[in-house]
Amino acid sequence: MPTDTVLTIRCPYCMAGIDFRPMIAYKDGRFVCCDCAHTVRPGITEYKCTCRRCLRLIPKHKDGT
Ligand SMILES: [Zn+2]
Ligand SMILES: [Zn+2]
Repeated sequence: MPTDTVLTIRCPYCMAGIDFRPMIAYKDGRFVCCDCAHTVRPGITEYKCTCRRCLRLIPKHKDGT
């Protein structure tokens, strides 16, 4: 069982070889994919990524808000 706390987050959108691309850890706790700019905050479920691929999954509001 590993004792270090290194966390590997992988981008769900980008493949690197046979695996998903590991994301880069930022100082503020976010992980960022250098390929598609997708971001995640581990442990914070309210965090919403605003990368292009995630925004495409969110239906647009008809009233424009
Ligand atoms: Zn990506
Ligand atoms: Zn995203």
